[in-house]
This record gives sequence, C-alpha cells and structure tokens, in this order.
Amino acid sequence: MGWGNIWKEDKEYGTKNVKKQNFKKSSQEGFKTAIEFKKKEFQSSFYDPTNDFSERSLSFEIRVDPLTGETSRVVPETGIEFQGREDLSDLIKESEGCFFCSENVERLTPKFKEDLIEEGRIEVGDAVLFPNLFPYGKYSAVCTFSGEHFIPVGKFTPKLMKDALIACRVYAERVHAIDEEAKYCTVNWNYLSPAGSSLMHPHLQSLIEVCPTSA
Ligand SMILES: [Zn+2]
Repeated sequence: MGWGNIWKEDKEYGTKNVKKQNFKKSSQEGFKTAIEFKKKEFQSSFYDPTNDFSERSLSFEIRVDPLTGETSRVVPETGIEFQGREDLSDLIKESEGCFFCSENVERLTPKFKEDLIEEGRIEVGDAVLFPNLFPYGKYSAVCTFSGEHFIPVGKFTPKLMKDALIACRVYAERVHAIDEEAKYCTVNWNYLSPAGSSLMHPHLQSLIEVCPTSA
C-alpha cells in the first residue's frame, strides 16, 4: 500500500467522521470501545554519516487524536537533552565544531539518496540542506544558514534568511517532482535552547508531506 493510500485511510479518522464512528461503535460494542487510539509507523531513508554513508531507514510514528482528528508526530530517540538555561555562553563555547560547522558539515551530515537529490545535499549561498538524522516525516530535512556555529539573533542578514528559505523551496520542488502527492511544505525554526532547540548552530527544519500535518 502506498504512502498516499495510508494517509487516505487515516483521513477517515478526521474530525468530520469521529462522531459518526463513535456513535456506531458505541451502539454495537459499548462505551469502552468507542474511542480508538490510532497510530501508524512510517520510514524515512538516507545515507548515514555515522556509518560510512551506508543507507539507513528510520521509523517514526504519526498518531491521530480520536476526538479532534489532530495528528502528532513522534520522532526517533535523539539522545539530545534540551537545555532550559538562559546564559548560553558556556554552551556555545563547549559545542563549537559541531556537525553543522563548516569544517564538518560534509563529513558528518547525512546525504539524500540519488533518486531524490542526486548531488546528496542542496547548497544555496552559505546554506546547506540535508536529510534530518531524526526524521519525523518521509521527507524531513535540516537546513543550516551557514557554517558559522553561532549567530546572535540580531545578526541574521537578509541574505542568510533568503538563501536558507530558497534551499527549502528547492527541496520542496525536488520532492514534488518525484512524488506528486507530496505538496504540503512546512519550514520550522526554533532558535536556541530557551525556544526548545537542541543545537546551538542555527538551522531550519523542512518537512514535505502528502497531507497537512494536522488534518
Ligand atoms: Zn556548529
């Protein structure tokens, strides 16, 4: 069964049908079975820098709220701890030379499979876009703004922003070219640990899906 068909099945659990389903099930099976917690597991594949760029498939889950029809994504275990502190100077210094820094990005970040991005990664200006090592969608990517490890919030230039967003747009176009159903794109950015980011190095996350993420 294809990705699109699986989603079409899941859509039946959307808000519109919930009341009808619950009513039908209640009358047939009793109240205890009226709510069903539905989840499905999907795979995302890329070339893994932690294992000589061999092909790796990771699974992630999409869960559907039986009452609202809203969906949630459960990512693989990252092993990264979120830091709640506000003075970040020590953290920034300690984490210099990370996977995303210019001297490491080619060696330590994943590459796309050739059928999607033949050149492995998408580069626009200083921005580099590559597969998310912890995917939460079939088409799940990370885009660094540049090789610079830390950029204060007020120092992001229009060019840095533009190049990273163009890289995300190119990614969406390339995905859509091989998978017509994948036409819903999100670009997310939570910068620095007080915003929930697990890495200091500035980056965006892009997701292309066959269905809006909460539909
Ligand atoms: Zn870095």
